[in-house]
Amino acid sequence: MSAAETAASVLTVDLSAVVANWRTLVARHPAGPVAGVVKANAYGLGAAVVAPALHEAGCRHFFTAHLSEALAIRPLLPGAMLGVLNGLRPGTEAEHRAHDIIPVLGSLAEIALWRAEAARAGARLPAIIHIDTGMARLGLTEAEVAALAAEPTLLDGIAMRFVMTHLVSAERAGDPLNEHQRARFAALADRLPLALRSIANSSGIFLGPRFASDLARPGAALYGINPVPGQPNPMRPAVRLTARVLSLRMLRPGESVGYNATWRAERESRIATIAVGYADGWPRSLTNRGAAVFDGGSLPLVGRVSMDLTTYDATDHPGLRVGDWLELIGPARPLADVAEAAATNEYEILTALGRRYHRVVLGA
Ligand SMILES: *Cc1c(COP(=O)(O)O)cnc(C)c1O
Repeated sequence: MSAAETAASVLTVDLSAVVANWRTLVARHPAGPVAGVVKANAYGLGAAVVAPALHEAGCRHFFTAHLSEALAIRPLLPGAMLGVLNGLRPGTEAEHRAHDIIPVLGSLAEIALWRAEAARAGARLPAIIHIDTGMARLGLTEAEVAALAAEPTLLDGIAMRFVMTHLVSAERAGDPLNEHQRARFAALADRLPLALRSIANSSGIFLGPRFASDLARPGAALYGINPVPGQPNPMRPAVRLTARVLSLRMLRPGESVGYNATWRAERESRIATIAVGYADGWPRSLTNRGAAVFDGGSLPLVGRVSMDLTTYDATDHPGLRVGDWLELIGPARPLADVAEAAATNEYEILTALGRRYHRVVLGA
């Protein structure tokens, strides 16, 4: 039998959905190109398959968070811009240059490192400059922008490809922080040498034309995460997660399931066990919350989610047999519902997806 036939769990990644989502975003952002943010292994879907599919569709700008992530996909993206969002770590300058990976410079110290590398290379080196407009994690402060404006030689040898900022609350369309950041970014970027600009993440694209720029940087929406929470999801789901029933057993009233006996049967109950646990990124916070779907019906998750196993109440599904598939994420069990049950967001569910699933990649 093939691995797919014997697998205990299957994660299906639909590249045609990822590409369709990219095209949807391209249509919604006519002001400039739409990059593919493929950090964290393309949000758990697999950067090695997602990045080439987007490249094939015409995407020519990519971002990861770490240099190591960029190095892994650089050979798959000929001719494309590849940027590292988390900034330039001292000692990695030559590696960036050797592999044509563009640092996103977020402080005067990082700018100095890249300027020195340009001097060593005797060439102008491309960079993206990150301005902090409210996230307060990375990016030039207002004082650093002022210092750059006062001393343009600090940018000697640096070819500014883009100047960018990152929105704090883009998924909340009514949050005044959005407009505040937009205006602040415009004012700060105006003080720097002329360069293309980049503002919107996935949700930012849906904030309307004021948030359009020369480069949008969506990640989440490519992978089917709803960029407009509370409204119908305009993106296509790209992930399906299913697991086989490993065992079924009957419990008498009063008997418990799992570690610490956090759930007890109130009636004769039938418990289904699957080989997915928190080591697979199936959140422990789903303990006694959430559900799986079989044949259109819902099976409540009962007991603790453990490292390798999770249990469901199948009492109301007498047709369920050992070997049948439960849907954990998919058309009948949207990612948003899983995230809500786990008291987290869709991003965390996807990026946590583990390595033990049998992965099936549907082609673009
Ligand atoms: C992760 C990230 C993005 C993509 O954000 P999504 O909400 O996933 O679209 C864009 N820009 C920066 C700086 C990021 O860190």
